[in-house]
Amino acid sequence: MNKPQALIIGGSMAGLFAANLLHRAGWQIQVLEKSTTPLTSRGTGIATHAGLMKVMELAGARFGEELGVPIHTRKAFDAQGNIISQLQTQQVMASWSRLLSFLLEAIPNNLYHIGKAVTRIDPGNETNRAVVHLANGKTLEADLVVAADGYRSWSRQHLFDAPAPIYAGYVAWRAMLQLVRLDPAHQALLHDGMMISQLPGDQILGYPVMPSNHNHDVHINIVWYRKTNTTSLKNLLTDEKGIEHKDGIPPKLIRTDVLNELKQQAKNTLHPSWAQIIQLAPEHFIQPIFDSITNSMALSRVALIGDAAFISRPHIGQGVTKAAGDALCLVKSLQLQNNDVVSALQSFSTQRVAIGHKVIQYAQRLGSVISQPEGELAKWCLYYSDVANVVRDTAVELEGVAHQF
Ligand SMILES: Cc1cc2nc3c(=O)[nH]c(=O)nc-3n(C[C@H](O)[C@H](O)[C@H](O)COP(=O)(O)OP(=O)(O)OC[C@H]3O[C@@H](n4cnc5c(N)ncnc54)[C@H](O)[C@@H]3O)c2cc1C
Repeated sequence: MNKPQALIIGGSMAGLFAANLLHRAGWQIQVLEKSTTPLTSRGTGIATHAGLMKVMELAGARFGEELGVPIHTRKAFDAQGNIISQLQTQQVMASWSRLLSFLLEAIPNNLYHIGKAVTRIDPGNETNRAVVHLANGKTLEADLVVAADGYRSWSRQHLFDAPAPIYAGYVAWRAMLQLVRLDPAHQALLHDGMMISQLPGDQILGYPVMPSNHNHDVHINIVWYRKTNTTSLKNLLTDEKGIEHKDGIPPKLIRTDVLNELKQQAKNTLHPSWAQIIQLAPEHFIQPIFDSITNSMALSRVALIGDAAFISRPHIGQGVTKAAGDALCLVKSLQLQNNDVVSALQSFSTQRVAIGHKVIQYAQRLGSVISQPEGELAKWCLYYSDVANVVRDTAVELEGVAHQF
């Protein structure tokens, strides 16, 4: 019997989970990634969870002891360095680049194609297969199309009736620095766990990671959340030539005056350990924070997964786990319905839309301490102004996100 065929659009986290799981479930797959060069690091650390590791194993990723840096504690400290909250907890802090490499290594090379931009999808129906149109003019047919094309997803915008992402009123600055480049006192403070400091409208956290499979030096990865109105955001995203990069400014195009101001503000407001990382980091990334939801993740033969479906604020540390859970739920739903794609996708969508909304809500509550909103979330802002609650609830596993059966 011929194997059912799937096309996966997007070769990042969600796409690779779907590709590996479908491949192992007997599907004939092809991954179409528009980037013309291999995907590289986003320069961010990723908090892992037991559920994520389970899906990685099911996906065939062989990570062993190499997943990341184990941490044993979470602490909050104030601007003077006094520890004001502390919790013993076990977690492995990985990096985006390492996770991606493990998933890439699990998939046969000839099934993963870079430089293949998808320009249109005809979603098919119960009797007709879906058709995917590529920028080079070619078309491909498949029984299933997995749209794992990220936060600027073509599929989301053109096939799904999903609202535009909403700016949360703050940005995340991210940076990484080799631990040994810090002064010894700063190394001693930051090396062994997840560390958090916060002021009204402002929160910084950091933890140790190994940046990539080729770089085993421990680095401290930081995320500095800062309340930022839309006028200031426009300024931050505008380069030296006056061009505004609404979808995200590449680190090399961030203006020198913006970086100088950032470093000065770090020096003025943060503990010196944080300020030194911001001062010395080779690159700074800016990430405007959005909430992005949808009420459907299935249209005929097209499944929407990962950030293409829901983007949660990063406090919750669930983006990759949610992508993994979407892919696992999709494959399990297909198996339960004997690969009857159209009805399996409806079941998948019902299950995962509920999880997506749960994740978004939890993340909005955590983020409210920075955005300081009015209405229902105001009480959560007050709750998380006690940093002990932030220490306990940040980046912890949420039931169902990794979709265990
Ligand atoms: C500051 C920060 C911290 C974070 N921390 C965590 C954390 O601790 N834990 C965690 O789990 N997550 C975290 N995340 C979130 C996590 O990084 C994302 O959720 C995850 O990478 C999303 O993966 P994805 O595959 O859905 O989307 P993406 O990684 O955006 O991939 C989409 C892919 O689709 C490709 N593509 C797009 N359009 C097309 C097209 N037309 N044709 C072909 N290919 C296309 C793109 O080139 C891209 O490779 C964090 C994010 C940020 C910003």
